[in-house]
Amino acid sequence: MKRMNWRVSSIVPFLVACSALPVLGDEYLNGIEWQEPPVVKPGENGAPPSDAIVLFDGKDFSAWNGAKNWKIVDGAMVCGKGDLHSKQGFGDCQLHIEWSSPTPPTGEGQGRGNSGVFFMDTYELQVLDSYENETYFDGQAGAIYKQTPPMANAMKPPGTWNVYDVIWTAPRFNDDGSLKSPAYITALQNGVLILNHFELKGDTPFTAPPSYNKHADRLPLRLQDHGNPTRFRNIWVREIKPVVGKQVKKPFMRKPNGEEVPIQ
Ligand code: MG
Repeated sequence: MKRMNWRVSSIVPFLVACSALPVLGDEYLNGIEWQEPPVVKPGENGAPPSDAIVLFDGKDFSAWNGAKNWKIVDGAMVCGKGDLHSKQGFGDCQLHIEWSSPTPPTGEGQGRGNSGVFFMDTYELQVLDSYENETYFDGQAGAIYKQTPPMANAMKPPGTWNVYDVIWTAPRFNDDGSLKSPAYITALQNGVLILNHFELKGDTPFTAPPSYNKHADRLPLRLQDHGNPTRFRNIWVREIKPVVGKQVKKPFMRKPNGEEVPIQ
């Protein structure tokens, strides 16, 4: 019995090694000729990736309009009177933005550290001090204002830095002004998923239900002045460009002898 066990234990590693060998057989190929993905160098230690459009790196407001009453303190922009608009317009994009609620905290509910990131000047991703601060859920930090709460409250306390990483898909409109496809947003706050491909119902006003109104393909990013000195830093955008591929032949199977057999 002992000898049998020794034999079995020596065969098992041999079989495992065999299973790791490539199996020759038919190969599926999709018939698409892909464009080579661009090389993007990731940023080190919180720096933007190599192809990012930097909107604020702690130095100046050169990428923005409306900053007359905003200030830069210790490498962060501090919200002043009037909304800030990026000079450049964006459609589909990836946004990274860091923000910090005023400390010590003052006010409560919507009055504590309220600001907002408006995509395309129109659709608000709420910025609010939602650290131990109750308000209506579809108005707390990470909400699409008055449309959906975030999936989690991932707030860091006032005075520390929150990070939003957002994937924004712009709405599309038909020539007659009707909606072709809605806007979608996926967002992480401090690495926690808070919005997962959420379909927006339209804009995000306080005084009216959401609606879509035809607008340009690219519009500025807007940072809201809601009367609170919220701080922002390290703001960058990557424009989203679709992967490009051309169907040059029907999907096919390639036989070991090289023969190509189209899949019917
Ligand atoms: Mg707001």
